[in-house]
Amino acid sequence: KLPQVVIIGRPNVGKSTLFNRLIGKKLALVDDQPGVTRDRRFGEAGLLGLEFEAVDTAGWEDDDPETLPGRMRMQTEVSLKGADAALFVFDSRAGLTPLDEEIGRWLREQNVPVVLIANKAEGNAGQSGILEAYSLGFGEPIPVSAEHGEGMAQLYNALNPLI
Ligand code: GDP
Ligand code: MG
Repeated sequence: KLPQVVIIGRPNVGKSTLFNRLIGKKLALVDDQPGVTRDRRFGEAGLLGLEFEAVDTAGWEDDDPETLPGRMRMQTEVSLKGADAALFVFDSRAGLTPLDEEIGRWLREQNVPVVLIANKAEGNAGQSGILEAYSLGFGEPIPVSAEHGEGMAQLYNALNPLI
């Protein structure tokens, strides 16, 4: 059985783009509109020879903070059960938002190793967002560009010891 790695983060940070990159599909399944990927998606992922089952989630798509403990969040919680690691993705260009911090607080209470992913970091973009993200408490953010396939070796180095 392959280790399972769940991709978590607020809408539009690039979770599905990273998922597609890891499973080797093109960007056809990505949609610019938040709330499109309601269901979890599973795929066999390969990262420089490291094999695992990737899970794309949309559990935080609900943009009403009042309903965060609701149905969609439950779905993310379900995805995390049995996961060997979580990739917590944020948008390094946008910087941290209150929802990133909320997800971070929630994730710290879960019993799963976390790799913090600073996405959209192509061309050294997002430096200040990356510095901000240390405050989430998951150590050094890994700068990647899911869209351009950058940072995959660093992601490998962070994930390999955990699964
Ligand atoms: P999700 O809601 O977290 O699943 O995010 P998506 O994967 O649907 O991506 C949201 C938007 O961010 C899309 O317009 C993507 O093309 C864009 N995006 C994803 N990854 C990157 C990246 O590495 N760099 C840049 N510049 N944009 C990205
Ligand atoms: Mg998505």
